[in-house]
Amino acid sequence: MSDDRAAAGFATHEVMNQPPPLVDYDLFGSDRALQEAVRREGADWAGPSLAGFGRALGRAETIEWGFQANRNPPVLHRFDRYGQRRDAVEFHPAWHSLMALAIGEGVHTGPWAEPRPGAHVARAAQVYMQCQIEAGVQCPITMTYGVVPALRRQADIAAEWLPRLFSRRYDPRLRPAAEKTGALMGMGMTEKQGGSDLRTNTTRAEPVASGGPGQPYRLTGHKWFFSAPMCDAFLVLAQAPKGISCFFVPRWTPDGALNALRLQRLKDKLGNRSNASSEVEFERALGFLVGEEGRGIAIIIEMATYTRLDCAVAGAGLMRQALAQAVHHAQHRTVFQRHLVDQPLMANVLADLALEAEAAMVLGLRMARAFDRQDDAGETAFRRLATPAAKYWVCKRSISFAGEAMEVLGGNGYVEDSMMPRLYREMPVNSIWEGSGNVMCLDVLRALQRTPEAGEALRAELAAAKGGDPRLDRFAASLEASLQARPDEAEARRLAERLVLALQASLLVRFAPAPVADAFCTSRLDGGHGGAFGTLPRGLDLRAIVERAAPAPA
Ligand SMILES: Cc1cc2nc3c(=O)[nH]c(=O)nc-3n(C[C@H](O)[C@H](O)[C@H](O)COP(=O)(O)OP(=O)(O)OC[C@H]3O[C@@H](n4cnc5c(N)ncnc54)[C@H](O)[C@@H]3O)c2cc1C
Repeated sequence: MSDDRAAAGFATHEVMNQPPPLVDYDLFGSDRALQEAVRREGADWAGPSLAGFGRALGRAETIEWGFQANRNPPVLHRFDRYGQRRDAVEFHPAWHSLMALAIGEGVHTGPWAEPRPGAHVARAAQVYMQCQIEAGVQCPITMTYGVVPALRRQADIAAEWLPRLFSRRYDPRLRPAAEKTGALMGMGMTEKQGGSDLRTNTTRAEPVASGGPGQPYRLTGHKWFFSAPMCDAFLVLAQAPKGISCFFVPRWTPDGALNALRLQRLKDKLGNRSNASSEVEFERALGFLVGEEGRGIAIIIEMATYTRLDCAVAGAGLMRQALAQAVHHAQHRTVFQRHLVDQPLMANVLADLALEAEAAMVLGLRMARAFDRQDDAGETAFRRLATPAAKYWVCKRSISFAGEAMEVLGGNGYVEDSMMPRLYREMPVNSIWEGSGNVMCLDVLRALQRTPEAGEALRAELAAAKGGDPRLDRFAASLEASLQARPDEAEARRLAERLVLALQASLLVRFAPAPVADAFCTSRLDGGHGGAFGTLPRGLDLRAIVERAAPAPA
């Protein structure tokens, strides 16, 4: 016994058989599947910067910021001590450190500020890694990313604001944007009476003068969910004389006054606790029309395509972190004289989780490539169909995934110190916001019905893997038969799920090592799977699958 412990006087035992913390590791360098996907999808040039970001995220200090930011959630200060309205949200310094790190890497607007082939793929890899360490900061970052194409519809506002959004210098101060080193944006659509059906929005917008694109309006009404309210401006839906329209609502008015966005309270959320989600009322708040009156939903939906991509990629990233924690634990923990990872049934659980996580990631980066090829009609049609389908299925799977990965850690997994409870709480939000599960599946149907090129893009993607695995060939044929049978609304979930499984399998069959592709096709396409993870059939190379997924050698 060391002198220190003897001096402590209460040393009853040695701590044994507990894994070392998974810290000071490289999220990029330790993820073989991610590196391959980044190369394959056209962002090889981003390797060095992704490696730097991966190392920065994996530092013990950064991981601790994630814990701190969630242990110390934001606080709303509606008034100052003199009773004046402030509507300010105070964050823990760890939140700001995480924001500064991500924005410094350009995760918020990198592909728009410095466009080049593969830029959206490189950014998707950033999002995937960022979410593993702290997912709350992703909310304002994703919204800012999604805002850019929508804002470009209003050239005068875009000219003034895009340089601010493109800045990599995070500035958290509640000051007019012109005085800051960088700006961020949020969005307000959901109202009390409806979030999926935005046509029910009641917030009113009255033109100050004649109205029209770029012109000022006064907004009166509310939003029931209004995340990241400390952003510098927002895209907000409101009813104008000619119907639902999209407005650019700055936090400060051009004459330097705080705009009348009254934050009512912050939501007490299941997870995503580092991030502030507010309820807001607009008291004749100043907004500027983006695009034409009556075109608001179309404009916001364009933005949502990007944020939905992020939801799917974030779901994949969260799964990756849960998996990394689980494999790491199993590599170090001994039960019944063997490392957990070597217990056959645990190897089955881990391999099954690894398949799910890799399939989600490869599809996310493949979709990001479609976002890179904005000039390609086939790729545009592909992303139209694949984005809602992937958001649905990846986020849905991630929820049960988190519970299973937690259980690998036994009791430790249920304790906040392990990060697993945070990951578990975070998973469902990606499934709910930006269009909940059913809404995504109905959107898949709509894409197939209204955009025939979407179905063609799907067929072309699957054709590229034809002959690679007979189980995939059979599955694709049966999916085609379902498409021909014109599924109705009640069948939309089943269709979206099968569509995603086919796409994931086609990528794995073409590009993943044989044990991964084989196990995926057997289990997901050929009926060789039970109702829970860890039910892979015999005859698969589980060890190879788990080794590939390990964040570090044991
Ligand atoms: C943490 C958090 C932060 C958020 N931040 C923002 C924000 O910043 N800005 C913003 O605008 N919104 C935000 N939202 C709101 C979110 O986008 C909505 O909650 C979501 O879109 C669902 O809308 P709703 O809550 O009104 O539910 P509803 O629209 O009432 O939907 C309820 C359920 O019905 C399903 N459903 C809807 N239509 C159909 C149909 N035709 N057939 C079958 N099922 C259907 C949905 O899939 C859902 O499961 C946030 C939500 C959360 C949880």
